[in-house]
Amino acid sequence: MMRLPKFEYRVPRAIGEAVKIMAGSGPQGQFVAGGTDLYPNMKRRQQTPQTVISVMRLPELNQITGDGAAGVRIGASVTLTDICEHPLINRDYPVIAHAARTISTPILRNMGTIGGNLLLDTRCNYYDQNYEWRKGINFCLKKDGDVCWVAPGSSKCWAVQSSDLVPVMVAIGAKFRLASTLGERMIDAAGFYNDDGIDYLKKRPDELLVDIHLPPLNGWRASYQKLRRRGAFDFPVLGVAAWVNLSEEGTVKSAKLILGGVGPAPVEVKEAEAALIGQPLNEERMRAAAEACYVKVRPLDNTDFLMNWRKQMARPLGFKALEELSR
Ligand SMILES: Cc1cc2nc3c(=O)[nH]c(=O)nc-3n(C[C@H](O)[C@H](O)[C@H](O)COP(=O)(O)OP(=O)(O)OC[C@H]3O[C@@H](n4cnc5c(N)ncnc54)[C@H](O)[C@@H]3O)c2cc1C
Ligand code: SF4
Repeated sequence: MMRLPKFEYRVPRAIGEAVKIMAGSGPQGQFVAGGTDLYPNMKRRQQTPQTVISVMRLPELNQITGDGAAGVRIGASVTLTDICEHPLINRDYPVIAHAARTISTPILRNMGTIGGNLLLDTRCNYYDQNYEWRKGINFCLKKDGDVCWVAPGSSKCWAVQSSDLVPVMVAIGAKFRLASTLGERMIDAAGFYNDDGIDYLKKRPDELLVDIHLPPLNGWRASYQKLRRRGAFDFPVLGVAAWVNLSEEGTVKSAKLILGGVGPAPVEVKEAEAALIGQPLNEERMRAAAEACYVKVRPLDNTDFLMNWRKQMARPLGFKALEELSR
């Protein structure tokens, strides 16, 4: 049985207190929300913080406020179950409720939070293993080793961004609010993820994710399609988020196609967007955009399924995501 290492557990009741504890803990401190990602990582000794600071008792992080007309703020500690069930999210941002419902199982969604999901560690078959397994291959670049087993000639880690909500947040243009003892800042979801499996976030370790700001609805619609082995459980090994704003005549004014689960950061397919903009959202244009998704995506052999098949699946999933928006 894998056991957690020893650590000090702190439960602040205000944002100011939380960021102060974090600043005082230095690199040995780490925030935790539901713990569904962090605690397994600690058991596998991939992350070994000595001070773990809970964000679950910070009132501001547990609220959903606003509406589709003005935009919505979702606190980072709101659970995935609450996102799935919230009437306002289901009415105004159904794509978020839908993507959240595809995450793992009901039990995990009761514990896991939206913030934890957006900050999820990157994943790889050579990394998501226990300590002894990783030691058996002399570890890897991402933790304790000096070679990447997926691309041995590479100085970069290719571990995969595996959150279902990340591509959706990038596609719809959400923003994230971060806080630390140095103050607050807002950052676009689109600029928040680095194409590097180790240093995968633009967030500093001392920064707290406070809330997620969803843009007002002004005619846009979005959809999400997910590829995984078991429909009731697994991580995405390809996710397609599509976003369009149509004119009254039905032509595409603007579009975004974002792929998740295929690299360290979400991938924007600008070629697919170019194939749609200024055109009616018809079968021919949707097929051209889906083809652009297929051409762009370059998965590596470090998650479930054959990488060539995952690449091919970008076509039907890209088409399906757009078709949903054409109805
Ligand atoms: C069996 C299993 C299946 C899963 N399937 C899926 C899936 O299908 N799709 C998917 O997207 N995910 C999946 N997950 C991943 C994960 O559990 C969820 O993404 C969940 O939402 C993580 O939220 P959490 O609150 O538990 O995060 P935690 O484990 O608490 O935290 C995750 C990371 O975020 C940091 N953090 C959390 N909150 C904050 C904050 N407010 N400010 C700063 N840092 C913070 C933590 O330090 C940690 O680095 C799965 C996990 C398991 C164990
Ligand atoms: S991509 Fe390479 S360096 Fe990164 S976790 Fe996998 S094996 Fe390790």
